[in-house]
Amino acid sequence: MSNPLVLASGNAGKLREFHRLLAPLGLEVLPQLNFRVTDIEETGLTFVENALLKARHACRVSGLPALADDSGLEVDALNGSPGIYSARFAGEPRSDARNNALLLDRLSEVPEGSREGRYWCVLVYLRHAEDPVPCIVQQAWEGEILAHPRGDGGFGYDPLFWLPELGMSAAELSADEKNRLSHRGRALQALVQALGHPLSGVVHD
Ligand code: IMP
Repeated sequence: MSNPLVLASGNAGKLREFHRLLAPLGLEVLPQLNFRVTDIEETGLTFVENALLKARHACRVSGLPALADDSGLEVDALNGSPGIYSARFAGEPRSDARNNALLLDRLSEVPEGSREGRYWCVLVYLRHAEDPVPCIVQQAWEGEILAHPRGDGGFGYDPLFWLPELGMSAAELSADEKNRLSHRGRALQALVQALGHPLSGVVHD
């Protein structure tokens, strides 16, 4: 018999990915919409705080264990910006095109070779809203920020995210390749490993 868990996200793509990896562990991933869980304000100052807020809220409303993710891009030459503000870097309404334009503008004086950055993905699993030992994994994906966009796959900052060892931007990878290599794909693998053991603990890169 499978154990239900709520995904604290409204994203259908994420639901499919999480289901594929977690179903073999006997975990049945259910969308938060099934329980009328609405999005909450992300008031944390770190990815992990925001993921915890989302997971706790989903547990509280649904009465079930919950999984939440939070992710973003960290650029060294911008002191870590846009970081936790990646989705709303250029303000509201949220727009990938405006976020990318702002990123290029902020880096316009930064030469090639000094444009390192990384995507981060943090996943938090809570057994219940008061769980004192959340299962937390965080994984990074290293790259450089291009001066001009390349490719039309992926989403968000992918056309500007250059992978030197592959000679491609993240937007030039197939969906399968991206899932295998990305911060999110690797965080999910790490979570599966962590959940294969007692459902508690913190796992870092
Ligand atoms: P969220 O985790 O869905 O809230 O995403 C946070 C934001 O970080 C997204 O809106 C994107 O701007 C950025 N981001 C996170 N992961 C990726 C990725 O895989 N590709 C491109 N942008 C990403």
